[in-house]
Amino acid sequence: MRMIDIIEKKRDKHALSLEELTFFVEGYTEGVIPDYQVSALLMAIYLNGMTDDEAAYLTKAILNTGDTLDLSDIEGIKVDKHSTGGVGDKTTLVLAPLVASAGVKFAKLSGRGLGHTGGTIDKLESFPGFNVNLSSEAFIDQVNRINVAVAGQTAQLAPADKLLYALRDVTGTVPSIPLIASSIMSKKLASGADVIVLDVKIGQGAFMKTLEEARELSRLMVAIGESFGKKVTAFITNMDEPLGFAVGNKLEVLEAMQTLQGQGPKDLTDLCVELGSYLVYHAGLSDSLKGARETLLENIQSLKAFDLFKTLIEAQEGSIPKRESFVESAHVVAVKADGDGYIKTIDALAIGLAAMKLGAGRATKEDAIDHNVGIVLNKKVGDVVGNGEPLAFVYANHEAIGEILKEVKEAFSLSQEAVTKATLIEEVIEH
Ligand code: URA
Repeated sequence: MRMIDIIEKKRDKHALSLEELTFFVEGYTEGVIPDYQVSALLMAIYLNGMTDDEAAYLTKAILNTGDTLDLSDIEGIKVDKHSTGGVGDKTTLVLAPLVASAGVKFAKLSGRGLGHTGGTIDKLESFPGFNVNLSSEAFIDQVNRINVAVAGQTAQLAPADKLLYALRDVTGTVPSIPLIASSIMSKKLASGADVIVLDVKIGQGAFMKTLEEARELSRLMVAIGESFGKKVTAFITNMDEPLGFAVGNKLEVLEAMQTLQGQGPKDLTDLCVELGSYLVYHAGLSDSLKGARETLLENIQSLKAFDLFKTLIEAQEGSIPKRESFVESAHVVAVKADGDGYIKTIDALAIGLAAMKLGAGRATKEDAIDHNVGIVLNKKVGDVVGNGEPLAFVYANHEAIGEILKEVKEAFSLSQEAVTKATLIEEVIEH
């Protein structure tokens, strides 16, 4: 087989076989196919697309370059969740103990944050001592004992994905739906769960900007999952404003803990209960979605889910400081409204970037992050605000934040007319 023939075939809009896609992915990972040929093929895929079968073959080829986690030593149905990344997205912190409290086995490998979106692993490392590097044995043992474990993804999981993503990043080929779908699904499928929920974000703060794109990505990821015998449900959810109020690691952890105690923001609570109900139902632990929702709400009210959150942190060697001493930022500055009205929009991307500049996120993979900084919104879309009232509070550890305060203020737009909020869950896509 020759790489030039594969490039020409895709250039001429023909579908590639499993053997051809495996040849290219393996050859690239082993370093025998050069960047320039792979770049040409990626651009041909970007321009000409892929059939569902090709996307599934590409997924298989990528996942086969590394280790797969064998979860068969965990009894029952194992579940997992993935989000395409949003601002203030602390869903996993709530969802993991919540569904585990209903008896579901939640086994999740997570990544670190990059750019304006945060990563679950960074958030969990807000707890002093929290260990994200679990061996497969320790990971499986913990899920068997307490129903839940969240560990960091290792470099051996779908290594071809990292190489391909880095090349896509510099060749203008990131926003290709089959390339995104196979990248995400190769990692999810390598992690071994039977039931998966995907949270596909749309809007300003998200990867997918339109409902049509999000629909196509969701449909394809569900189809790839099904071709591997997995039960996959994709939720298309709005990311026009940040999720909840808090953006930044410890601030988000605090909000997640409040949510698990029944005092969280409505959007975050609704999303976690909805995603969770599908996991509980598809794991066979409830006869209906309605019953599953009721169980999850009960487990929030009774603090069963919150207790399991604390068990999870302790099981992975984290200590839980007192709430008053948890967030250690030198300054908290209010950003105030210049007039009154209704909040029309809150630019999630601008808020995410402002939090990153405060130190809550990384501009490059090598950057260290400050767990104590971030932004807490005081208003959400549709709320009424009076002149001089705080729109948000900025938690900072350095003083030169004038520009950031300005960006946070400009992220809000006001209207004199009442504003109707966009629906949080736009669509649910199953087979
Ligand atoms: N997230 C991924 O993991 N891969 C992509 O290609 C895009 C987003």
